[in-house]
Order: sequence, then C-alpha cells, then structure tokens
Amino acid sequence: MKLLEDRILKDGKVLGGDVLKVDSFLNHQIDVPFLCELGKELHRLYEGAGVNKVLTIEASGIGIACITAQYFGCPVVFAKKAKTSNIADDLYSAQVHSYTHGVTNNIVVSRSYLSPEDRVLIIDDFLANGCALEGLTEVCQQAGATVVGCGIVVEKQYQGGGDKLRRSGIRVESLAKIAAMTDGRITFC
Ligand code: 5GP
Repeated sequence: MKLLEDRILKDGKVLGGDVLKVDSFLNHQIDVPFLCELGKELHRLYEGAGVNKVLTIEASGIGIACITAQYFGCPVVFAKKAKTSNIADDLYSAQVHSYTHGVTNNIVVSRSYLSPEDRVLIIDDFLANGCALEGLTEVCQQAGATVVGCGIVVEKQYQGGGDKLRRSGIRVESLAKIAAMTDGRITFC
C-alpha cells in the first residue's frame, strides 16, 4: 500500500535489533484518519469472508484492530498478557515470545468471547517471526473458531514469520512488506 510505504519512509525510524519504530502514527501516538485508510483496505481484502470477530493482542494491535472492526461491524477481542502462569478454567491460553521485549508471555482470552460460531480475522501491527500470530491462532483452535486470515500493517518479510504461516495454510495479508532494513535504510518487497 503506497500510502503506508510513503509514511513509513517519512516517519519510521530503524532501531537496533531489527526494530522499526512507527510510534508517531501507529502504536504510540495514533493518526486516526490515517489508520482509517488502513482499516478500509483490510476490510476490502477480507470483505465477503464472513468475518464476525476481530482478534488481536495487547497492547499495540488494539488501535488498528478497533478501527478495522468498525468496517466489519463486529467486536474486537484482545488477548491479554496474563500476570501469572496459573491459567483459570474459563480462559483459552497460549505462550507467545515477545519480539520487542524478549520475554515469553502467557496470553489469555476469556471463553465467553470466542466460540465455534466465530469467523475470526486476526489483526496486528507488526509481523516478524510469527510468534504472536501463532499464539492467537492457537487460541482460536482451542475455541473451535475459524481463522479467516490475518491482517497485518507491517510485515518484515525477511524475518520469515509470514511465509511460515502461509505455508501452514493460513491466509496472511500485509499492507506493507519490508524486504530489508540495512544501515537504517528500508527496502520494500
Ligand atoms: P512476532 O511475534 O511476529 O515475532 O512479532 C510481532 C509482535 O512483535 C508484534 O505484536 C509487535 O508488537 C512486535 N514487533 C515485532 N517487530 C516489531 C518492529 O519492528 N517494530 C515494532 N514497533 N514492533 C514489532
């Protein structure tokens, strides 16, 4: 999506450890009209797929998930990072290694908010190694829900997570795909 690529080139900052910072519009300060354009595109890609729930993970996926969900007219559920490893009976849970924080979290979703009737679009801001999406997919499997696909704002394609998920049969659509980030320079696929 040209609009997004231009914004990343204008405002994105490449940090060490292969991290792209887009705090000024996506996941700290939020440019709502701009995210609406991203949400409309994600809706266009999955229109007709029967999406009746959007699932994301706290915290930085919540903004784009909410904006996208309003075009589907459906609720958003966000997986919470559990404070303890004791998982209650009324929760679905999975382990997710955090790319940016280097820790492994138990993510949890209440059994009240995902069921076999749900056709789920998983949304996140970034896709790197794919751990977050794998964890969210696992939660959907536990619920017996159908994963319609994943909608990602920025996929760092060279880190392989997206292609691994696609090979496993999951539809993954990314609005910007980064082929390389070398010496602070971003190259799109
Ligand atoms: P994965 O689980 O695919 O390795 O990483 C995805 C998660 O890590 C996303 O939920 C996102 O919050 C975070 N993440 C991964 N790479 C980046 C990055 O380059 N920039 C930012 N801001 N977050 C990232």
